[in-house]
Amino acid sequence: MALPINEKNWQQNYQKSPSFLSLHMGVKAEVLSKVTECHPSERDHRTYCSQTHHIVLEDWEKMTASAGTIFVSIPTLLDPDLAPAGYHIIHVFTPHWWADWQGLSASEYEAKKEVAAWEIIDRLEKIFPGLDAGLDYLEVGTPRTHRRFLGREDGTYGPIPRRKLRGLLKMPFNRTTIEGLYCVGDSTFPGQGLNAVAFSGFACAHRIAVDLGL
Ligand SMILES: Cc1cc2nc3c(=O)[nH]c(=O)nc-3n(C[C@H](O)[C@H](O)[C@H](O)COP(=O)(O)OP(=O)(O)OC[C@H]3O[C@@H](n4cnc5c(N)ncnc54)[C@H](O)[C@@H]3O)c2cc1C
Repeated sequence: MALPINEKNWQQNYQKSPSFLSLHMGVKAEVLSKVTECHPSERDHRTYCSQTHHIVLEDWEKMTASAGTIFVSIPTLLDPDLAPAGYHIIHVFTPHWWADWQGLSASEYEAKKEVAAWEIIDRLEKIFPGLDAGLDYLEVGTPRTHRRFLGREDGTYGPIPRRKLRGLLKMPFNRTTIEGLYCVGDSTFPGQGLNAVAFSGFACAHRIAVDLGL
């Protein structure tokens, strides 16, 4: 079957974003100062508020490089019940490329994970002094992890525009040229993010119901 024109346009407008390295840490509560939050004084440490709690970027030239920008979320600041009393969860992720994690033996892979994780922890230590000493639990996810468990090609984070697109991002809707085959999730309109994919799920369910005449 020929590639539908919509799909061709889509491929011209979007590209695959890199994958990422993910650290899930359990840390002693005293690692975080009492003011750790979205707080203006933290800008002194080159950390900025976003949907994650902090974005760490020491060198703007390396913003899109591997491990250049670190995104930090601390869900237990919002819901302490997510961790045992006296502990916090810190989730960190940063762009990493699939190609850099290819062709490694099991022991090389483990060693590379260790090195990559501790580079990040060392950088975060400047913002959270005592992080290393207070680290109780660490799980490291790599592009290989994300490819395996999320079924994403090359462990990609998802589609990103190739160039500046005018107006609302044009993304595929839920129907495809194959009757009865629907697409849903962050590769369809309106794109990435939990709110967006919830909308996509709602829209897809509605589309199917209409197509079934319900
Ligand atoms: C590190 C990271 C941080 C993020 N932070 C935020 C954030 O702070 N706020 C926000 O709004 N969004 C965030 N996002 C984006 C958001 O998580 C995604 O856009 C959203 O989860 C995508 O939902 P989805 O249902 O489309 O896909 P997914 O959540 O990827 O779900 C797809 C599911 O399909 C399964 N699957 C894949 N292939 C198969 C198969 N062949 N058979 C059966 N099952 C299969 C996968 O295992 C997975 O469970 C983040 C994403 C990442 C990766």
